[in-house]
Amino acid sequence: MKNTTYEVKKSDEYFAKAKKVIPGGIFGHYKYAVRESGPKFFSKSEGAYFWDLDDNRYVDLMCGYGPSILGYNHPEVEEAFKSSSDKGNTVSIASPVMVDLASKLVDMVDIADWALFGKNGGDATSLAVMIAREFTGKKKIIKIDDGYHGVAPWMQDKNRPGVIASDSEHVIKIKWNDFEELENVLSQGNNDIACFISSPYDHPVSRDNSLPKEGYWEKVTSLCKTHGILTIVDDVRSGFRINLKGSNVAFGFSPDMICFGKAIANGHPLASLVGKEEIRKAAERVYFTGTQFFSAPPMAAAIATLNELEKVDAPKKLIDYGKNLNSRLEAVASEKGFNLISSGVSSMPYYRLEGETFETHIKWIDECVKRGVYMLSYHNHFISLAHKEEDIDFIESAARQAFESL
Ligand code: PMP
Repeated sequence: MKNTTYEVKKSDEYFAKAKKVIPGGIFGHYKYAVRESGPKFFSKSEGAYFWDLDDNRYVDLMCGYGPSILGYNHPEVEEAFKSSSDKGNTVSIASPVMVDLASKLVDMVDIADWALFGKNGGDATSLAVMIAREFTGKKKIIKIDDGYHGVAPWMQDKNRPGVIASDSEHVIKIKWNDFEELENVLSQGNNDIACFISSPYDHPVSRDNSLPKEGYWEKVTSLCKTHGILTIVDDVRSGFRINLKGSNVAFGFSPDMICFGKAIANGHPLASLVGKEEIRKAAERVYFTGTQFFSAPPMAAAIATLNELEKVDAPKKLIDYGKNLNSRLEAVASEKGFNLISSGVSSMPYYRLEGETFETHIKWIDECVKRGVYMLSYHNHFISLAHKEEDIDFIESAARQAFESL
């Protein structure tokens, strides 16, 4: 398929309609992606693509911000979802599929001796922190400066609208990859710390993503253990794109709990918290629930997703694909006189144009979007198993034209 420049008239019309009935028209993280020239609503999706209301096709490098790991509408996943849904969705008692999924996670994930379920990543991170507080009898949470864990008030910056300072009164922020800062915090004799929560590597917005320094995590987990502090890995974004046993395995350490979400059910709403045996009793005591938490079809979809990911050794494929994509994009950039930096794990790369203003970077991304490659300037991208070699050709050609247009 050739790259042409798209118009998004119908999306714009719908956006005008949306503004009348939805505050801001589009809210949350989707709001940040609303740009004049970009698509705002989809009409359908399949594999590595979605189509907007004007019927423009996009190679989707955002994958719904992570959930689409096998590609949209994966037949086995959709079949599992449908056959479960035919039997019932949210029923007054739980479905055995919940037990089967918990067993699957306990078998698959290195540290998992038990699993609990919610809907969004933020359910899992909030639950993890509550369990850590219950387990330790302590209240403070150490997190990375701009590490994102969801929208619960304790996770948000105190200056954000609707948030008050006391919401994060017990949150201590430290810099990523800075073991000495963690040591300093702990050496101040503060013995009221319940947990350290962090993603396995740093994937902030609008900045290069950064992998853990050699030995960082080993030192962190060992120091936390000495102080009786639980370590929680927020694998909501990176889960299943680095290592199916938990991303921590790739970085050689063992946390007490891991939060999963996004890709776990290939787009069906589900999140999970898994943990070690010692914490089981505390997990049992914490009250955590939601009307939709027991919905069976997303759990059936998750089992099908995890089976499929195991069958094809997904992380390796995604990482290899990402490496190829990154090097092809870097080559196109250099051919056109730009220096494109890709950072983070290659199955979810963040791109930046070295030596250019952020405005130029945004413009380059916008020009790629106009040519049928859905990307964002501020967020890392995601690869799915539906992305093919021919999609790299298409992306490369859009990127080349986008550079030419700058
Ligand atoms: N943790 C991380 C690392 C995330 O990237 C996200 C979502 N972007 C969350 C937690 C929150 O997940 P959700 O939006 O599903 O609540």
